[in-house]
Amino acid sequence: MPELPEVETTRRGIEPALRHRRIAALRIHDARLRWPVDPRLPRRLRGQRILRVERRAKYLLLRLEAGTLILHLGMSGSLRVVDAATPRRPHDHLDLVLDSGQALRFNDPRRFGSCLYTTAPPEQHPLLRHLAPEPLESQFDAGYLHRVTRGRRVAIKQLLMNARLVTGVGNIYASEALFRARIAPTRAARSLTHADCARLVRSIRAVLRLAIRSGGTTLRDYVGADGSPGYFRQKLYVYERAGRPCRVCGTPIRQRRQGLRSTYHCPHCQH
Ligand SMILES: [Zn+2]
Repeated sequence: MPELPEVETTRRGIEPALRHRRIAALRIHDARLRWPVDPRLPRRLRGQRILRVERRAKYLLLRLEAGTLILHLGMSGSLRVVDAATPRRPHDHLDLVLDSGQALRFNDPRRFGSCLYTTAPPEQHPLLRHLAPEPLESQFDAGYLHRVTRGRRVAIKQLLMNARLVTGVGNIYASEALFRARIAPTRAARSLTHADCARLVRSIRAVLRLAIRSGGTTLRDYVGADGSPGYFRQKLYVYERAGRPCRVCGTPIRQRRQGLRSTYHCPHCQH
């Protein structure tokens, strides 16, 4: 599943081809995404200029002259910039054709992705209104994390993956950030001190930035948003390394179930 770094990598990958371009057409080959693509959309988008491409959590926002196109990659979606005449492959559902002759092509085998349009400010859209602060922005700091962990018995790993409190930190990044912060994933959230929270915020940011940088160096116009973080995988400390020696102390990495997900940690380095 595409996580925040993959979506940010996608944003950086597609923006140069989209920015300041006019939309020549929206071709809907299959409207059956998570929500059906509005059949009036081609008419509403045609002729509009794309001002910029933004990201909020895992949503890509194409800011147009008269509104915003909100794209989400769902479980298996990906975007490519192609020559508009490039033959379609299976699961290529949408083509946003630009006046440059290129097209932004949306591929999504499992069709949990979405393509919605709003003329209201996007931050007021029901999907975006209740999102937690962005982990790479200043509102997400030690004070914030300390405040939202007070009184919560839930394991810190599960709290990090709660999208109402922290945005865009999936299983891989939560596991890796906790290792770097030397905090056991099973610790009760409320047991974290302010210093723990400060270390954890720094670690989350470092892990996300590293993943974005790795994605940015391996991908250009195509983003293989199949959940594989490319070169970042070679830099993982604990995720999917069960039984292998900790890169810091040599102790075998331990795997356990937490909720429905697997969690990985070093029993020696993390407390
Ligand atoms: Zn270790």
